[in-house]
Amino acid sequence: MTVIKKQTNVLKNYINGQWVEASTTNTLDVSNPATGEVLTTVPVSTEEDVNQAVHAASEAFLTWKNTPVPKRARILFKFHTLLSDNHDELAKLIVQENGKAFKEAHGEVQRGIECVEFAAGAPTLMMGETLSGIAEDIDSEMFRYPLGVIGGITPFNFPMMVPLWMFPLAIACGNTFVLKPSERTPMLANKLAELFTKAGAPDGVLNVVHGAHDVVNGLLEHEDVKAISFVGSQPVAKYVYERAAANGKRVQALSGAKNHHIVMPDADVEKAVTHIVASAYGSAGQRCMACSAVVVVGEGEAFVSELKARADELIIGNGLDDEVLLTPVIRNSHRAKVLDFISKGVEEGASLIRDGRKEMDEMKEGNFLGPTIFDHVTPDMVIAKEEIFAPVISMLRAKDLDEGLEFIRKSRYGNGATIYTKDAKAVRKFREEADAGMLGINVGVPATMAFFPFSGWKDSFYGDLHVNGKDGVNFFTRKKMITSRYDF
Ligand code: NAD
Repeated sequence: MTVIKKQTNVLKNYINGQWVEASTTNTLDVSNPATGEVLTTVPVSTEEDVNQAVHAASEAFLTWKNTPVPKRARILFKFHTLLSDNHDELAKLIVQENGKAFKEAHGEVQRGIECVEFAAGAPTLMMGETLSGIAEDIDSEMFRYPLGVIGGITPFNFPMMVPLWMFPLAIACGNTFVLKPSERTPMLANKLAELFTKAGAPDGVLNVVHGAHDVVNGLLEHEDVKAISFVGSQPVAKYVYERAAANGKRVQALSGAKNHHIVMPDADVEKAVTHIVASAYGSAGQRCMACSAVVVVGEGEAFVSELKARADELIIGNGLDDEVLLTPVIRNSHRAKVLDFISKGVEEGASLIRDGRKEMDEMKEGNFLGPTIFDHVTPDMVIAKEEIFAPVISMLRAKDLDEGLEFIRKSRYGNGATIYTKDAKAVRKFREEADAGMLGINVGVPATMAFFPFSGWKDSFYGDLHVNGKDGVNFFTRKKMITSRYDF
């Protein structure tokens, strides 16, 4: 490996079981979104670093693919125990680098642990199929095999859960892995690598290369990388999907979202508002399953005034404080883009009934923005169409459920959608006609658990097989068919 000048407080890459310095002096600061404090710096690794990691993963694959499946699963059981033992510490790390509230970070760790639980079922999940007598004296069997080296590229908003959507299952299926975490939240990835090694993972099975575009492109171009699992924003997801596919790789690319929540006239106002506030403002709206567009069916004035009142009461601050629900957005540069969206909404004629810029001016430090609500948004407005990824609700008015469903149909995104109602007929119509992959019936964040696929549609997903569940197993394995004649 290249020896370079020692730098202090720069995160290291994890390659072949060693913590190694990246072959660059180019770094980025990693700052706490609530305070601005620089926590560490992350190297902007180069293609050379990627090549080293892929080489290590390729070498490790030769042994790992032949390691008995139950033995592979046992490492995941141990990893599960270590994650559970470090639950609070992991959650605190998430709060530090991502800024979300401790309770939400704790929940994120739990979601990640559930992915490991699912992956530990590898001996069952990897089972093939057989059929005796497909012809006279002839039987057929299907076996599953790993693909080889998998590249994983992850976003800032779930630094624990999203990497755990990927590498535990990929590795349980016999693959080896190179993870490129978000350069904005890279610390958690190193902690995961440390615990995975402690759990008994052999050298080279999991590697972490920090950085930005060059690392991504290095993975997309490398001929020994057989599949790419990506989660991030829409333009990058599309780019990754197209480039990886053009290079002959299997690819799943989870993308952006604009999730509609339909509030029917019969909805319980209190409960609907509680779920919408938690969905839209939790994690500062930076969740791909966050409520970002509310569709009020009918007159809805009681709902609108309750929503505004509850937004006014929200406690804003540092995620380490128990009372806080609304935390900062990831970077000041992201907040600047959100402010442009707010100006655009005003310019386009939506009514800004709650302006979160007020709280922004009151906070002394951090990338805070208060809860923001636009009413009378129309589907053609930019704030109705684009993902804002911030504590901003765009509220549309619909005369009936059909018109609400039409708004969902017209959206380019299709990650999630929710309806609040007690009307069974409306529920069924919504379930059948809502044009999105993950639906909630009176559920504010209808994200699936690890044993089901995370199932975005339209521009929220590029690929065929989603992450998690049986889709995940199919994505990380290839099938071999054996046809046998015994009368020979
Ligand atoms: P992002 O697209 O900026 O970054 C994601 C990853 O891609 C990072 O590792 C980053 O380094 C890399 N990257 C960014 N720009 C690149 C470029 N031009 N070329 C190559 N690589 C590049 O996303 P983010 O801001 O970190 O995360 C938020 C986004 O992720 C939102 O759009 C959100 O909806 C989406 N997301 C989707 C899901 C889902 O399941 N659909 C889940 C979580 C997040």
